Amino acid sequence: MRRIYVDHAATTPFHPEVTEAMLPYLGVRFGNPSSIYSEGREARKAVEEARARVAKALGADPGEITFTSGGTEADNLAVLGVARANRERGNHIVTTAVEHHAVLEPCHYLEREGFEVSVLPVDGAGLVDPGEVRRAIRPSTLLVSVMHANNEIGTVQPIEEISAMCREAGVYLHSDAVQTVGALEVDVNRLGVDLLSVSAHKLYGPKGTGCLYARRGTKLEGIILGGGQERRLRSGTENVAGIVGFGVAMKLAAEEWEQRSDHVRPLRDRLIAGILEGVPHTRLNGDRERRLPNNVNVLFDFIEGEAICLRLDFQGIAASTGSACSSESGEASHVLLALGIPQQKAHGSLRLTLGRENTDEDVDYLLEKLPPVIEELRRMSPLYPG
Ligand SMILES: *Cc1c(COP(=O)(O)O)cnc(C)c1O
Repeated sequence: MRRIYVDHAATTPFHPEVTEAMLPYLGVRFGNPSSIYSEGREARKAVEEARARVAKALGADPGEITFTSGGTEADNLAVLGVARANRERGNHIVTTAVEHHAVLEPCHYLEREGFEVSVLPVDGAGLVDPGEVRRAIRPSTLLVSVMHANNEIGTVQPIEEISAMCREAGVYLHSDAVQTVGALEVDVNRLGVDLLSVSAHKLYGPKGTGCLYARRGTKLEGIILGGGQERRLRSGTENVAGIVGFGVAMKLAAEEWEQRSDHVRPLRDRLIAGILEGVPHTRLNGDRERRLPNNVNVLFDFIEGEAICLRLDFQGIAASTGSACSSESGEASHVLLALGIPQQKAHGSLRLTLGRENTDEDVDYLLEKLPPVIEELRRMSPLYPG
């Protein structure tokens, strides 16, 4: 059966150029980058070439890039690493209610180490008010962490305005850009961030690789201790094949982000219009304008998103309710709750996130299959008045 993958916010398929570049490092090129003989030097060269590519794609210097095991570790390193390295300067962190758990969990963990955390609310579209950020900053504030775009609802935050405020206050700004690299322009100097997280598998690269950008001079300490790799910020033998794949994925993202966005945006707009017009008792989650070009997130009254996804899977469609992480816990999404959506309704969401391989025919198929699935589930729902 035909399969349509519309869950690119969860992970993306490999770009063929990424796979091709990685293959030698899964075979004959197995050296350890820290070894001094030729196999090691070859691996070191590959890692440094990838670092240069990643840095260039972000408008950064290679020395500002630390390879990690992905977005989660980059977020953890930013929050824990800045907090612990700057403890003598203060104990306060500002973040938002819609951050990924990879930011929220380390923030809350730090509360046990005596740090204080302010979690800012968002408006009904998921936007953070830069004025709220300014008001939350205290003399003891070390770090502000606001994501570039949300992985569930696609809302893009006003990072430039927030960074201007942080700079004025002398506070570090971290941004989780896992969902925006390859979809929007992500230039660390234009955004004005001090730290930025990236994950390879969200941009057609391999799982288990990513990086943290940290502006030169940022006081940061490692959270994984050992052999002192990555300028002591991330011990552990480098994932050479993964890093090589990440480097190629970043090069392609920098070259193609505009083209990719122009490809998915009209597909997204057709999906949003088609669903909202074709299915009653439905609303769009997230901001209509300040939105990732590939994100559709809709709330269907009276039914559960999980049930919709299962039925869609039988029709050959891979979609999700929101974040892959919250689907296991069975709890309503913290992001939807932060928008002010009541607990019971928040279970009725469906997220479709498009990618470079999706087509107009995919959208036709989705718009053909989805309305009857919703109708059928609603007919079985005791909540449904119609
Ligand atoms: C996927 C994701 C992460 C986690 O990245 P991994 O590489 O899977 O650890 C962090 N933040 C956001 C916004 C994400 O979408």
